[in-house]
Amino acid sequence: MREIGHFIGGKHVRGTSGRKADVFEPMTGDVIATVDLATKAELRAAVENAKAAQPAWGATNPQRRARVLMKFLELVQRDYDALAELLAREHGKTIPDAKGDIQRGLEVVEFSLGIPHLMKGEYTEGAGPGIDIYSMRQPLGVVAGITPFNFPAMIPMWKFGPAIAAGNAFILKPSERDPGVPMRLAELMIEAGLPAGILNVVNGDKDVVDAIIDDPDVKAIGFVGSSPIAEYIYGRGCANGKRVQAFGGAKNHMIIMPDADMNQVADALIGAGYGSAGERCMAISVAVPVGEDTANRLVEALVPRVEALKIGPSTDVNADFGPLVTREALNRVKSYVEAGVSEGAKLLVDGRNFTMQGYENGFYMGGCLFDHVTTDMRIYKEEIFGPVLSIVRAKDYQEALRLPTEHEYGNGVAIYTRDGDAARDFAAKVDVGMVGVNVPIPVPIAYYTFGGWKRSGFGDLNQHGADGIRFYTKTKTVTSRWPSGIKDGADFVIPTMG
Ligand code: NAD
Repeated sequence: MREIGHFIGGKHVRGTSGRKADVFEPMTGDVIATVDLATKAELRAAVENAKAAQPAWGATNPQRRARVLMKFLELVQRDYDALAELLAREHGKTIPDAKGDIQRGLEVVEFSLGIPHLMKGEYTEGAGPGIDIYSMRQPLGVVAGITPFNFPAMIPMWKFGPAIAAGNAFILKPSERDPGVPMRLAELMIEAGLPAGILNVVNGDKDVVDAIIDDPDVKAIGFVGSSPIAEYIYGRGCANGKRVQAFGGAKNHMIIMPDADMNQVADALIGAGYGSAGERCMAISVAVPVGEDTANRLVEALVPRVEALKIGPSTDVNADFGPLVTREALNRVKSYVEAGVSEGAKLLVDGRNFTMQGYENGFYMGGCLFDHVTTDMRIYKEEIFGPVLSIVRAKDYQEALRLPTEHEYGNGVAIYTRDGDAARDFAAKVDVGMVGVNVPIPVPIAYYTFGGWKRSGFGDLNQHGADGIRFYTKTKTVTSRWPSGIKDGADFVIPTMG
């Protein structure tokens, strides 16, 4: 059995707390590894290593820092298949989907290769008599990322790629459910030439997260996970004077206008609602057909597709989706389905009793589809994070626009229509951070920024793109003049350039 410790100062170290968590293989239900849960002292050791290594890394010219990341990209490409298989085995998603998880992370590392340009400041000659002003971006020092189970490659890379490119030292606290890939990524960074101590991985649960939030040497925390934890980390981190961005859960709607192509809509919903067993923060979990006729046509198109979903073990490349991450997650999703039934929603397809032949202990369930869901039901209000899609029928466009706008989450949303006016109005007015027009999962590309609104995101900068660099750097502005520009005599009036 694999025993996963921590990665501190460029080396694997075993945990000392005596506390461990099991890492499951969701497709079989077997425990395939254990992971040590770090203590405050172990976090402190990682921070000390990071603090010692950071000044030299921060002083390394940005082109050289970018070259290390370039080599890292090559090494991940070399090990792509093995990484994807490890990811699929620990998470449960299929291998092609695991490759997508890695690829979306690599794209942010690729973006970070532009760090010499991204770190450039501004310069104004002659802002006042003999006065020049310039600004520069500097790393923060030691920074951290705390990441969820559902993208164990992508989200760690979204965090450490820009942060390390910018000259920081990084503490990664990945999810304890699937820590294998983050550990491999840290090894590959060292193989790529990253100095020891610049990327440290501490595994653990609330104890180590609290230690990160309270450590005075950790200057910034980028968090991704569920909203209650995001809110907690944001509040406590800010109270400790840290820079914090914390991204949370979601309830992503897809609005279906009467003029939309129903085949395209149904295909999009099947992929976006059930891909990765619905365990994506950008999964569509609510379909909003506009008008009764649209709703009836949608149901007719969706039901056979949901019934035909191919569920399989993560290693089956032909499966549409694999198992959920843990038995606990499976039971939680099933209890939501029960709640929906008892609250009066109409369960059109019930995947609760699905079992996978030959993998009877795996954490599988089939796709579920609810119709006539209303806004007072728990299955509408709360994030289910499973292969469950709810149809909420809207009588007109205005009602459809109000639903995602008034929902407490505001991560992603999509509209399907051929009507440019409706799409434009929707994109302008909907109170959600990321909008798709005939695109079901509008995850922005690496050089744009990613971030939800309302309870889907706490803090004021998004992830990746320009904001990713801003978050992990600080701006210094220098106002300078030379003796030839200085007049004799003291000046007691606030300086102006006038
Ligand atoms: P989670 O909140 O349970 O865990 C996220 C991280 O927080 C993990 O590293 C975990 O160890 C840590 N953690 C868990 N409980 C904690 C506690 N009580 N105190 C301190 N730290 C704690 O989330 P998850 O189940 O791993 O991931 C799924 C969630 O993440 C979903 O809600 C999903 O929508 C969200 N998510 C959001 C985005 C986004 O960008 N908005 C992206 C991916 C996932």
